[in-house]
Amino acid sequence: MAIRPILTEGHPMLRQQAKKVRRLDASLRRLVDDMFDTMHDADGLGLAAPQVGVPLRLIVIEHEDERYVLFNPEITRQRGTVTDDEGCLSLPQWFGPVARSEQVTVKGRDRAGKAVRLKLEGLLARAIQHEVDHLDGTLFTDRVEDRAQLRYVDPAQDTGPQPPASDDPDGTAPADEPDQQAAAS
Ligand SMILES: [Zn+2]
Repeated sequence: MAIRPILTEGHPMLRQQAKKVRRLDASLRRLVDDMFDTMHDADGLGLAAPQVGVPLRLIVIEHEDERYVLFNPEITRQRGTVTDDEGCLSLPQWFGPVARSEQVTVKGRDRAGKAVRLKLEGLLARAIQHEVDHLDGTLFTDRVEDRAQLRYVDPAQDTGPQPPASDDPDGTAPADEPDQQAAAS
């Protein structure tokens, strides 16, 4: 297991159509493990393979200790619309409101290659749509209605009267901003 570098906006791979996974092998399972490590390290909620430089249709999401691995995910059903803040590990510190379906049904294959079908809502539904977008070369900023709504949250900026976070020896914790609640993926 290892932490892989996350590509950031401007890298051409983030704008490519990722390829379907034909055969699951040990190297892909290793990739899945690396993606979870990378995502944890970056404090993210989800990650798509192209974000770590692998142009394949694979996404991982972790929410409330539940892990989701989907090879060749396909959203087959969408219901409702809800607008909420989004962030992305490939656009660090940028946040903005994106309208997404409230509920989605997604099918694909899990880590073992077994066909799965999931019905998700709320944050998980949002994360799935965000990650599947990555597989099609779409970034959340493309979906923000008005780019003026994008906000950059400076992690070094001290925004309140709170004392410095002493439980953050690396100094990498984001500033204590309500905007930070938007999960990055
Ligand atoms: Zn993203």
